[in-house]
Amino acid sequence: MSKKIYITRRIPESGIAMLKDKGYEVDVSEKDGVLSREELLDALRAKPYDGVIPLLTDTIDGEVYDAVPSAKIFSNYAVGFNNIDIEAAKKRGVTITNTPGVLTDTVAEHTVSMILSITSRIVEGDRFVRAEKYKGWAPMLLLGTDLKGKTLGVLGAGRIGSRVAHICSKGLGMSIIYYDVKQNEKFEEEHGAVYHDSVSSVMKEADVVTVHVPLLESTHHLVDAEQLSYMKSSAYLINTSRGPVIEESALVDVLKNEKIKGAALDVYENEPDLAPGLSELQNVVITPHIASATEGTRGAMSNIAAQNMIAFLEGGTPPNVVS
Ligand code: NAD
Repeated sequence: MSKKIYITRRIPESGIAMLKDKGYEVDVSEKDGVLSREELLDALRAKPYDGVIPLLTDTIDGEVYDAVPSAKIFSNYAVGFNNIDIEAAKKRGVTITNTPGVLTDTVAEHTVSMILSITSRIVEGDRFVRAEKYKGWAPMLLLGTDLKGKTLGVLGAGRIGSRVAHICSKGLGMSIIYYDVKQNEKFEEEHGAVYHDSVSSVMKEADVVTVHVPLLESTHHLVDAEQLSYMKSSAYLINTSRGPVIEESALVDVLKNEKIKGAALDVYENEPDLAPGLSELQNVVITPHIASATEGTRGAMSNIAAQNMIAFLEGGTPPNVVS
């Protein structure tokens, strides 16, 4: 009997084709949106699926595993896996995989574009011109901030943080400081980076703080009201990791009161909702969780999610097991 796979939302075709080439029966949710809890449970109870490909917008926990006990692999279509209850999976002997690596350059490029957008006031300038406010060159119009010689503070010196540090040091001439739970000598050598042993120390010194930690209990509100209060009034905060890492309402307060210069966010605490007042502020650039959204990367993620699934179902060890 052919193996049965369920995918919770349409993803690029290449990975689906790989699964079908193996002779697997692949069901893809036809809803153009996130499945509600009941829809997800009903869909999984419909057949004895052997594997599931969920997205980061699906909460996968004990109740979900129990809805489809035949599925011993959940191949997450994302590098982050904060949507997955790993302990509940372990208890049931379910393997969890993710799609690391292929997103790194894309997310780093989006992050750097956000740094440049906010410091050069690109989006604000665009809004200004479209609103027909532009009446000709003026010496004091929309003055931004230079980056050369400034300090980038990286919270989370992993794959994406490292690539951002590379572009900002080599391309923009910034100095790098960082905080991570693990001191990273390779990161220091490659980027001339200086380790700080606390978040607050980075917040106090950096001109631009960029956040690249995974969402864990230990990183929930890592950047809270207190940490924000340490930032320079000339500094910027960038977040392309996960929304709940930053206390969003506190960020709105400091932006509103011009306690910091600006922020650029791709992710939000209660997506897709924004903290009250955030979208009314001029000193913030906001994008709709699209840091990995290039055709190439989303296709590559589809292939990796399929490779992990195939390796497991063929009796091997998937390349990207999360433990
Ligand atoms: P990674 O695992 O390579 O790096 C994460 C780093 O954070 C590691 O160096 C780790 O030691 C550090 N870290 C963990 N806990 C910490 C803590 N409490 N304090 C300080 N540092 C801590 O991950 P990555 O591939 O660089 O991705 C980082 C995150 O970016 C992902 O977990 C994901 O949530 C997010 N992401 C977002 C998008 C998007 O579309 N916006 C796309 C891809 C990834």
